[in-house]
Amino acid sequence: MNRLDGKTALITGAARGIGLAFAQAYVAEGARVVIADIDLDRAQAAADQIGDAAIAVKLDVSDQASIDAGVAEAVQRLGQIDILINNAAIFTAAPIAEITRADYDRAFAINVSGCLFTMQAVARHMIDRGIRGRIINMASQAGRRGESLVAVYCATKAAVISLTQSAGLNLIQHGINVNAIAPGVVDGEHWDGVDAFFAKYENKAPGQKKKEVGDAVPFGRMGTADDLTGMAIFLASAEAEYIVAQTYNVDGGNWMS
Ligand code: NAD
Repeated sequence: MNRLDGKTALITGAARGIGLAFAQAYVAEGARVVIADIDLDRAQAAADQIGDAAIAVKLDVSDQASIDAGVAEAVQRLGQIDILINNAAIFTAAPIAEITRADYDRAFAINVSGCLFTMQAVARHMIDRGIRGRIINMASQAGRRGESLVAVYCATKAAVISLTQSAGLNLIQHGINVNAIAPGVVDGEHWDGVDAFFAKYENKAPGQKKKEVGDAVPFGRMGTADDLTGMAIFLASAEAEYIVAQTYNVDGGNWMS
């Protein structure tokens, strides 16, 4: 193992769910990780559970001052950042006629502006130090096609795929590879919120939507956060050096079905 020996990774939204699984997997591969999350208590609990190779930093990706302070704190405490995973995001759903500007602005501030300006802050650090770094953005199958009740979230994830292409093409001149992962449906606390939206708009019983989408995955079940860690390790590893500006589906065949 030890494919990430000596590397330091900053992972946003890593206090729980997929980001936390990435942090655990990176540490198992020899990396040190910064659990960067808006929820500092939970980030600290996650770092304590992982051990000496992890630190917790408060970072709200929708707030420029918080991004700058979080990145500066990470660099000050761990020396440098070699890998960024832009993982923090929120889900939102509503029929077009009921979308509010506040929900739209919040989703774009976290999922899109957060992705771009965290990428910018870490890329500036990498360029200044001559670090041939890796940036991995969390997209979604929702970024590849619209969904009836999910217009805003889908649009934010389409923007993440587009930003990955442009940033990938721009930053490779500095030796920084930018790529993205597009999961399908992944079990976790995130689904409590998703289920609540569909209970409201489709009169689904609690848990019903989650069961339906899980049953529909060609692989035969919903994904888990652990199903995604292999791709996150690969994209940060030496083997992925020639991969630039790509978005990879890791979805049990869901996007194709
Ligand atoms: P999650 O909701 O379980 O966790 C998100 C984390 O982000 C939480 O720890 C939360 O505190 C943090 N966060 C929220 N707002 C933040 C902010 N402004 N600044 C910093 N941190 C913030 O999500 P998840 O299911 O683990 O998803 C992780 C990523 O994978 C997201 O980008 C999501 O869009 C994407 N994704 C998830 C699924 C899925 O089915 N779970 C599918 C496709 C893509």
